[in-house]
Amino acid sequence: MIYMEDGNGLIPGGLKRCSRERQNPPETFQKGFITIEEGSGLIPNKPILVQNPAGQVCVGKTSKLGLDRPCLSFPIENTCISTSVRMNNPDHVCTYCYGKQVGIRLNMPTAIKSRKENYRIYREENETFWKQLQGWILYNEVKTNFFRYFVVGDIPDEHFLFNANEIAEMFPKIPFWIPTLKTGFLKRFLEKEEHELASNLIIRLSSPLVNEIDPIRFEWKSMTYTGKQPKGSYRCPSSDQDDECRDCWACWNKKVKLIAYPLNLQERKGKPKVKRSEYI
Ligand code: SF4
Repeated sequence: MIYMEDGNGLIPGGLKRCSRERQNPPETFQKGFITIEEGSGLIPNKPILVQNPAGQVCVGKTSKLGLDRPCLSFPIENTCISTSVRMNNPDHVCTYCYGKQVGIRLNMPTAIKSRKENYRIYREENETFWKQLQGWILYNEVKTNFFRYFVVGDIPDEHFLFNANEIAEMFPKIPFWIPTLKTGFLKRFLEKEEHELASNLIIRLSSPLVNEIDPIRFEWKSMTYTGKQPKGSYRCPSSDQDDECRDCWACWNKKVKLIAYPLNLQERKGKPKVKRSEYI
């Protein structure tokens, strides 16, 4: 059991709101730091929080997103639409998924292990998962400008959205972004009256097909394209800037309705480069 400073076990729905000015972490969260190993897919030599003695929810940082934009991922084999994991159709975005690429830092054994562990905790100790995530953000709140779910993986169930929404409400100054292909979960979540999306949480519905915008009516979307930039879209600039977001934060911006990720033609022919543009 993880305890916060006041000794109360934290559960989603009963969490304390946090102060953006908080500088000192609760004692519990000062313990158990590790240094990420070189080659783990995460930025090395940056401390991340681990909780003892239970499993550890791993929140990482990638060079693409930047140090102020931590992210949390799950394994694709457990959370992505089952057929999409094996997808080799050149028209399907899952064919080009980061999570399937061999030899990139994001898929080094330690990074894969951390995603599996995240998922195990989520499934077996769900309450602990959310407590630990909240604790991590609480401790890192001041230096977290944006938070992203799923550089790899997807929403595991409808309940995830409910809790992620609560986490966003607890940290109103941090914009959160969830990219997903799980139309069903999103629809069911939004259909429930009590589920009002936090103002600082954006869920972007990704189109599963290259050059197609998802037909479901949803305000925030993303797509992958080849050739001409789709009308009305915001073109992701990362491929022009060493595959980094730098000062772009369009994916978190609710004013940007459609993000278009250019797909490298070499990748489309099934020869993915190690360095590549972002897409979902
Ligand atoms: S549009 Fe591209 S560069 Fe901008 S925040 Fe999204 S992924 Fe990063």
